[in-house]
Amino acid sequence: MLDDLLKVIGSLTVFLYGNLYGNLLSEEHKTFLSSGYKCPNCNKTLLNRAGISTVKFYSKDGTKMNIFTASFRGEIAECPHCGHRWNLYAKSSPIITPNKLEIVNIIETHRSEEILGEEKRLIDNSRSTSKTTRRFTVSREWSKSYSIQYENTQVNGTELNLGLKLPETELANLKITSQETLNKQYSITEGTTENYTEEVEIEVPGSKKLKIIFTWKRIWQHGIIKFQDQNNQVFDVPFQVAVGVTFDQTQIDE
Ligand SMILES: [Zn+2]
Repeated sequence: MLDDLLKVIGSLTVFLYGNLYGNLLSEEHKTFLSSGYKCPNCNKTLLNRAGISTVKFYSKDGTKMNIFTASFRGEIAECPHCGHRWNLYAKSSPIITPNKLEIVNIIETHRSEEILGEEKRLIDNSRSTSKTTRRFTVSREWSKSYSIQYENTQVNGTELNLGLKLPETELANLKITSQETLNKQYSITEGTTENYTEEVEIEVPGSKKLKIIFTWKRIWQHGIIKFQDQNNQVFDVPFQVAVGVTFDQTQIDE
């Protein structure tokens, strides 16, 4: 339904532009509009839930534009998912593509733990004089996720937050390539969750009440992705990836 509606709106836009400015739009942009705003490369619908375009626009020289200035001066559209670029107009100059980044390697450095919360269980064996063994399952859902510290990226050994400026297109390219690299390396798919489950066996002596506290922790793998571009510039991009959860177990006599 929505898909069809978008196609109608998109086709109408093509029709209007065609009539207002002559046949100015590029074939690829017309296809994009009449398909209902689907990326010509990855086929994702490039609208957010509010129906606002998520396409990124750039001027001829590669400067990023917002959607309002883009309607007057924008010449290049870019898909936020796959990075595919296309010309908006039929007679645009060739697309400026940022330097291709080659992955040199991915260096894993250290691991850290982040406390997620506590879970308590009470085992009451106070009415019995003999010891008992309780078995139960503890589990926690978690998702593989990552964060990339772009501001701490080093270009030829100089950190970006120390005043070094990368052109907007280079930075966007660095972001997309870093995300793709991590998704691939750590088999991360957006929105999927994993379930960690473990069997726990606890022995409680007779006439005792025990409180068991599980402290859940997320395990972060830290590291650096090393890229090199055609001009032999080296980029060190720091990241952290959630690689699992674990817990500590404490027992308290009640
Ligand atoms: Zn795409």
